[in-house]
Amino acid sequence: MAAYEYETHEYDCIVVGAGGSGLRATLGMAEQGLRTACITKVFPTRSHTVAAQGGIAASLGNMGPDHWQWHMYDTVKGSDWLGDTDAMEYLAREAPKAVYELEHYGVPFSRTEAGKIYQRPFGGHTTEFGEGPPVQRTCAAADRTGHAILHTLYGQSLKNSAEFYIEYFAIDLIMAEDGTCQGVVAWCLDDGSIHVFNAKMTVLATGGYGRAYFSATSAHTCTGDGGGMVARAGLPLQDMEFVQFHPTGIYGSGCLITEGARGEGGYLTNSDGERFMERYAPTYKDLASRDVVSRCMTMEIREGRGVGAEGDHIHLHLNHLPPETLAERLPGISESARIFAGVDLTKEPIPVLPTVHYNMGGIPTNYWGEVLNPTKKNPDAVTPGLMAVGEAGCASVHGANRLGSNSLIDLVVFGRAAGIRAGEVVDRTKGNPSLNQASIDAALDRFDTLRHADGGVATAELRLEMQKAMQADAAVFRTDKTLGEGVKKMTDIAAKMNDIKVTDRSLVWNSDLMETLELENLMPNALATIVSAEARKESRGAHAHEDYPDRDDKTWRKHTLAVVDGKDVTLNYRGVHLDPLTTEDQGGIEMKKIAPKARVY
Ligand SMILES: Cc1cc2nc3c(=O)[nH]c(=O)nc-3n(C[C@H](O)[C@H](O)[C@H](O)COP(=O)(O)OP(=O)(O)OC[C@H]3O[C@@H](n4cnc5c(N)ncnc54)[C@H](O)[C@@H]3O)c2cc1C
Repeated sequence: MAAYEYETHEYDCIVVGAGGSGLRATLGMAEQGLRTACITKVFPTRSHTVAAQGGIAASLGNMGPDHWQWHMYDTVKGSDWLGDTDAMEYLAREAPKAVYELEHYGVPFSRTEAGKIYQRPFGGHTTEFGEGPPVQRTCAAADRTGHAILHTLYGQSLKNSAEFYIEYFAIDLIMAEDGTCQGVVAWCLDDGSIHVFNAKMTVLATGGYGRAYFSATSAHTCTGDGGGMVARAGLPLQDMEFVQFHPTGIYGSGCLITEGARGEGGYLTNSDGERFMERYAPTYKDLASRDVVSRCMTMEIREGRGVGAEGDHIHLHLNHLPPETLAERLPGISESARIFAGVDLTKEPIPVLPTVHYNMGGIPTNYWGEVLNPTKKNPDAVTPGLMAVGEAGCASVHGANRLGSNSLIDLVVFGRAAGIRAGEVVDRTKGNPSLNQASIDAALDRFDTLRHADGGVATAELRLEMQKAMQADAAVFRTDKTLGEGVKKMTDIAAKMNDIKVTDRSLVWNSDLMETLELENLMPNALATIVSAEARKESRGAHAHEDYPDRDDKTWRKHTLAVVDGKDVTLNYRGVHLDPLTTEDQGGIEMKKIAPKARVY
């Protein structure tokens, strides 16, 4: 057994993650006088939420008529009827409250002439249950909404005496024998010390796992650590097959090039210099919807018409546009292309690739953020002492596809809900129960094994292998054949974790070891994604299956649950929550309004 000394800390609540969701949960818990600590591997305001520019959806109706029921309808339709109805109602109803709270906490929203919060239009957000014109529902602080939210929530959390453990890496959950979560074991990156956090409530707010793929718009820190910890605790991951792609991420870095670039006249070409979108979508060409363009690009690459030395990407041309137009309309893009692709876009094309943008799947929860551990008898059974919020969680409000600006609102609505729920279920008068030593030992043993790993494959090498396999076989273009091959490849790749090689044995700022821990977290996320995708024989939202082009509600309107044990994945399913929180006569939505139908825009 590994011998590590550690310091033990006791709290009512600990939150792992200081992005928008983690900070909102931390603040909500601290405000109620719960002794709360937030543990984060990066400085709070460097979490990926900082990169969110577009904004946060809520039916404030500041720019024209809007209603929470219209927002709910759009979310149901966006989810392609896979979201849980109660959670989607909760999101849409609570959204205005959560945004006004942010305003009062000090988020510097952009303003209308009348001094109200400014709102902009966003894809998929409409009026009159999809029958009316688009709505301006997305509240924005210029193009720095995520940045503004993070800074405000961090300041408010400090004001309310929440404690922060910054640059601490959570290794594993501490689970009691009866399945209650008791806290986490963490490693202080800065001085190498080990810490045990004993908490009555643990909240995972660790963000998405975009880095399981070769090309992702998300930060390098988005490695699905919460999903990894949950999988090792024997708990399921939900709906992992649903991964959202954006057509134009810069090849290599994944930095986003906005759709506006094609709006201004940009177009895509393959290795023959052909404008291939004309062939697939004669009317809208390069401006067909995101999932369509992404799929066509992937097909060109698969059929050997990709550009570059490895034939694995596509060119985006803006060089035919007048330089004045580029300077005036797309200054940010010009800069991104220069910095991240090294190209002068007035002279040459930008190398781009459909890029992972968001994970709809994650740790299953109810709309209070409590983590589910469904059993045959009770599909809604919860894991005591454990919550998950933000992109790490799956409540599920995004179902098979997330609408733009619905993630930031998910962070604050469910971060806030977790705080409210913790206030109800955490008993402040009792001391913390003693910890399950076997669980702590297991976490430290795993840590020690990786620290001294001396196999044949370097972490960066295996990570690249996983990312390329996921990009090739679990991306936009999915068939029985590609998914079947992908499952085989990923199973072999996951098995190689036993042969991993770590070269640095120290405990102080050992980025080699940290990246290995992250890889071991990415692996179950990636495996669950490809195995769940292989099993789902229909097309729904982001999961477009060439062999089963239609949605099949009769068989497949259900959540996938994946339990990952090493390289083995076991699948189960859970019914979608069809009942809303309030009935029509209680002021709720008319059920026939949200009955399943074809999803056309
Ligand atoms: C480029 C980009 C633009 C976007 N724009 C928008 C937008 O305009 N509107 C919108 O609604 N959505 C947008 N999204 C999506 C949205 O921003 C994210 O889904 C959301 O910010 C995720 O927040 P989070 O709180 O779940 O986690 P994150 O912000 O990713 O934070 C995760 C936190 O967990 C911590 N952590 C992780 N693992 C560990 C560990 N092992 N130990 C300790 N700490 C750990 C990290 O330190 C970090 O603090 C965008 C996403 C991207 C990538």
